[in-house]
Amino acid sequence: MAQPTEGRAPAYIDTSKASIARVYDYALGGKDNYEVDRETIERVRKVAPEVNQLAIDNRAFLIRASRFIATQTSITQFLDCGSGLPTAENTHQVVQRLQPEARVVYVDNDPTVIAHGRALLEDNELTHFSAADIRDPQAVFSDPAVDGFLDLDQPVALFQIGTIHHFEDSDRPQKIMADYVERLAPGSMVAIAHFFDPENADSDLARRMEQVFVHSPMGSGRFRTMAEIQGLFPGLEMVDPGVVPCYRWWPDGPQLGPEDAVQRCIVGGVGIKK
Ligand code: SAM
Repeated sequence: MAQPTEGRAPAYIDTSKASIARVYDYALGGKDNYEVDRETIERVRKVAPEVNQLAIDNRAFLIRASRFIATQTSITQFLDCGSGLPTAENTHQVVQRLQPEARVVYVDNDPTVIAHGRALLEDNELTHFSAADIRDPQAVFSDPAVDGFLDLDQPVALFQIGTIHHFEDSDRPQKIMADYVERLAPGSMVAIAHFFDPENADSDLARRMEQVFVHSPMGSGRFRTMAEIQGLFPGLEMVDPGVVPCYRWWPDGPQLGPEDAVQRCIVGGVGIKK
């Protein structure tokens, strides 16, 4: 695992508060994080020793869903809501390798991502960044980085991967997604990965992780039920196999090692607007 950054926080970073993007970076083994970020994961580790697997499976789903859309559909526009900090394989690198003309817009409002992720993520003229709040679809779609760059009358792949579980119920996530979907052209696809309460023997683990996340320095991380998560794909036709644990969504091959219960507590799916 890479050695985390220490001590030299730039002025725009408040190291007294955890950031979702940096907590996730730590869980993926990155180095762009501070003690306050690491504390969130270390607290969750006490109830779920394999907590890092949540982030690993989420990220692997993002990469496989990107590859799927870039190879199996004619979509060449990607709107990646909640980009996170740059990591080994970013959405634009995955899809532009397969579809060199693909346009990608990243959206994130984390000061660390805006300050130094932006430069690394916007590394060619087909890739742009928008510093909007993704709970506000109107703000996202009207940002010139989105509106002036993507043709919203043509199909778009909209990603909400590892993002909506950071929205409160009071943000009305289903309404937010309905607003996104309404604006998308037919043929568009929506990919979502979300923390999951399986409402079975694994429910206790999911709710214990939720309690720690919500009361940690990060302050968010809702484990929603299948009905709640399916409600985030309003009116969309689900691509087979629907909403399933991320690691079971078209894996690259059979899982040879043992599975951990945390892997059943994060699900992903892709829907298409007909
Ligand atoms: N989508 C990436 C992935 O799956 O690898 C990153 C996921 S990371 C867990 C969630 C990202 O969503 C963070 O970078 C965070 O800053 C961003 N995010 C959360 N809430 C947001 C909001 N309301 N507006 C914009 N970005 C947000």
